[in-house]
Amino acid sequence: MQTRVDIKRNDTVKVIAGKDAGKQGRVLRVLPGSAKVLVEHVMTVKKHVRPNPQRNIKGGIAEQESPIAISNVMVVCPTCGPSKVGRELQGDKRIRICRKCKAPLDK
Ligand SMILES: [Zn+2]
Repeated sequence: MQTRVDIKRNDTVKVIAGKDAGKQGRVLRVLPGSAKVLVEHVMTVKKHVRPNPQRNIKGGIAEQESPIAISNVMVVCPTCGPSKVGRELQGDKRIRICRKCKAPLDK
């Protein structure tokens, strides 16, 4: 079954479940196949990086985001906060709107 994905890259989302519940961040990547998104500074894991001078990588600990299930995040409407995403036909285009205040989410 194909999950309908209402989230796009660069959306701001709020985490509603999991260890990072309450955090907000920008969507870096959408992974429709696994119904997950990569959100900036959310679900970070610390990775030990080996120095690699040839690729100009310094060793140490780097933080990396791991994907979070789309069902655990909500799109944040710029006007009224976290809300559900609706769809509306504008001309011949389907645009995403906030279901609370009806403001368009796509520019
Ligand atoms: Zn709204």
